[in-house]
Amino acid sequence: MTNTSGNPASRQGGDTLLSSDRAPQARLEIRDLSVGYGPTPVVHDLNLVLRPGEVVALLGVNGAGKTTTVRALAGELRPLRGEVLFDGRRTTAPLHRRARGGLRYITEERSVFMELSVADNLRLGGGDRERCLELFPELAPLLPRRAGLLSGGEQQMLTLARALAADPRVLLADELSLGLAPLVLERLLLAVRAAADRGGAVLLVEQHVRDALEVADRAYVLSHGRVVLEGEARELRGRIGEIERTYLSNAELATG
Ligand code: ATP
Repeated sequence: MTNTSGNPASRQGGDTLLSSDRAPQARLEIRDLSVGYGPTPVVHDLNLVLRPGEVVALLGVNGAGKTTTVRALAGELRPLRGEVLFDGRRTTAPLHRRARGGLRYITEERSVFMELSVADNLRLGGGDRERCLELFPELAPLLPRRAGLLSGGEQQMLTLARALAADPRVLLADELSLGLAPLVLERLLLAVRAAADRGGAVLLVEQHVRDALEVADRAYVLSHGRVVLEGEARELRGRIGEIERTYLSNAELATG
């Protein structure tokens, strides 16, 4: 089976299920990346590719290394080994410079200004307010309300509206769903899918594996800081029970 990512499965030591040969140039890519919080890596020899128009899910149990990987992609953590490429060019730029290139990073913490109104949050986001309301009409009646008074789901819509209004070239979304009701999650994931359909390259870190695979084109599964499985989402959906048991269960977590 051919690998679209240019990452033979053997290179990562994992299982691969990719099938097509021709793909557009990666917008964001990591090659042989090892990264951590001191001299010892918590993510090892990782290869990952994000292309325009696709949603890529990054899956794994707590502590698998998902956030660490995303922070390296965002420019918040310097690689110990390996490299990050943005539009095919090696980069060590910090987040604010990658943001100038059209990268948006939604962290696990909701990034809204709690003391400010929804309207002011949208204004500070720099995107077009009408565009934000087009993406999330639910926010229109909430414009005068202080963001700290919104529900968790409404706050996350606000976060996503601010990120998506600029039509980001790359969106890195870490745990959008944290603590949210299933219907809200579905709403957010559809907005993320639409952003990719408009040409964005999206990386989605998600605990709700089945929901993530519904909107994703491809996925990587991390375990103990290594890719143990990668493939096309439609194929992974067909193996979901086995994947959950093997890579995403409490038993997997306990072996850490
Ligand atoms: P979760 O789903 O719980 O967010 P994760 O897959 O995103 O987990 P990471 O947050 O990347 O995992 O953590 C990977 C490893 O790095 C864990 O062992 C964690 O304890 C460690 N780690 C995370 N952040 C730090 C930090 N700031 N300093 C030191 N170690 C850290």
